Amino acid sequence: MESKDTIIELKGISKVFEDDGFKAVDNFNLEVKRGEFVTFLGPSGCGKTTTLRMIAGFDVPTEGDILLNGKSIIGLPPYERPINTVFQRYALFPHMNVYDNIAFGLRQKKTPKDMIDRKVGRVLELVDLEGFERRAIRTLSGGQQQRIAIARALVNEPEILLLDEPLGALDLKMRKEMQLELKDMHNKLGITFIYVTHDQEEALTMSDKIVVMSEGRTQQIGTPEDIYNEPANAFVADFIGESNIFNGMMTGHLKARFCGGEFVCVDDFEEGTHITAVVRPEDVEITAPGHGTINGIVDSVIFKGIHYEITVLSGKNEIVIQTVHNARVGDRVGLRVDPENIHIMLAEDHTNLFYADVNHDFRLEYNGHHLDTSLTRIIKGSKRREDGTVVDGNGDILEPDRVRILVSLMPDDIEMTDDQDAGLIQGTISNLIYKGDHYSYIIHTELEQDFVVNDEDLWNMGDRVSLLMPVDKMKFTLKKK
Ligand code: ADP
Ligand code: MG
Repeated sequence: MESKDTIIELKGISKVFEDDGFKAVDNFNLEVKRGEFVTFLGPSGCGKTTTLRMIAGFDVPTEGDILLNGKSIIGLPPYERPINTVFQRYALFPHMNVYDNIAFGLRQKKTPKDMIDRKVGRVLELVDLEGFERRAIRTLSGGQQQRIAIARALVNEPEILLLDEPLGALDLKMRKEMQLELKDMHNKLGITFIYVTHDQEEALTMSDKIVVMSEGRTQQIGTPEDIYNEPANAFVADFIGESNIFNGMMTGHLKARFCGGEFVCVDDFEEGTHITAVVRPEDVEITAPGHGTINGIVDSVIFKGIHYEITVLSGKNEIVIQTVHNARVGDRVGLRVDPENIHIMLAEDHTNLFYADVNHDFRLEYNGHHLDTSLTRIIKGSKRREDGTVVDGNGDILEPDRVRILVSLMPDDIEMTDDQDAGLIQGTISNLIYKGDHYSYIIHTELEQDFVVNDEDLWNMGDRVSLLMPVDKMKFTLKKK
């Protein structure tokens, strides 16, 4: 492999679709080193395919530039770029045999017959399908068809291979196998792979570098370890691996209040700063009741082979714990977390995060109240089919029991009232700080969740308030359980 110079660079590329003015990609910056395995990771609809299509040349960025080996390729059509794409749906020609599918591009380029023979033989070897030349496409399994699609892209000897959710159509076992094979192929070939997936585990196993995306924007770029251990914000923490995420506030030097307790931490911000606290399930310790920072009741215990996954309810805060020690449902326990295992980050725009449930009419509920919106309205690309089921943009069925909705809402958009039944949730003011032109409050709710609310009026510690939370100000992210 050559030295690690930059092969491709995305410089502030954006894509606005003209028909509806939708900005699918927003100011995307990235440097990819020669030979690297880079993965774009993010939920359906976040702009992964659109970004790949701009790299391949099928779409033109509205803004920004793409440099290949230091030169702009914006004006180059796809076939003049040393880049090939493997799509999720294999896009093979069903009426042609394996050889003709792979040879198609080479024939168009008028490559001599004996050279085509040699090249086809070589890529078939590479994807472990030696001797498959004369097989008809329809006689191949899904996994074999995907290998042919990869062979067809590799036969052009691209400098960069783009793979758009290439394993999405395979079953789990086949997917795991192909992950290893692709990684192996990448090592053998030494070419640059840009890989797209919405599966965080796949991204963590395969990549040198991961780009986490949400709503057209890059959220974090780093190695799998960086992204897992030091998530840049609550979105990344939530998307990668399992995490417990809480809203809170710094209440003193190395002290943060969240989840109904005051925790000692190692990240410091000014007192009164709104924070998001992230704690991985493996970092929560169960203690005797009263011996931890907070108390709770064991709500569920699932044996996962190596560890138990235990859910503890502290009020309505749900804390997920992974531990090798068993517990019984109904046990009263204490919980503690080592200060260095509490990741405190500035709450992005001081956002409040909480989960809403989806009921059997696909409508959203929070704290027993209906929110005036539905699943199909908030998840772009989702729709209700004739048989009554709802599918997401990828066509995957969304079952109400298997999904929940992460809601974010800014402190400025929540209003406090002393009319206790008026809001979605009631609570008590447990902290307040004057911020120059307004007060910032922490409301400790009946569900034990803390909300941050900004208000110009002065309320008192201990006041009971109800929180008015307007649905049109909420932002929603689909989460699968
Ligand atoms: P991903 O691959 O991450 O699932 P896409 O890049 O396919 O996401 O799409 C990003 C967003 O852009 C989606 O909301 C999608 O509906 C929208 N989009 C994609 N292609 C078009 C298009 N040709 N016209 C309008 N909107 C589009
Ligand atoms: Mg896509």
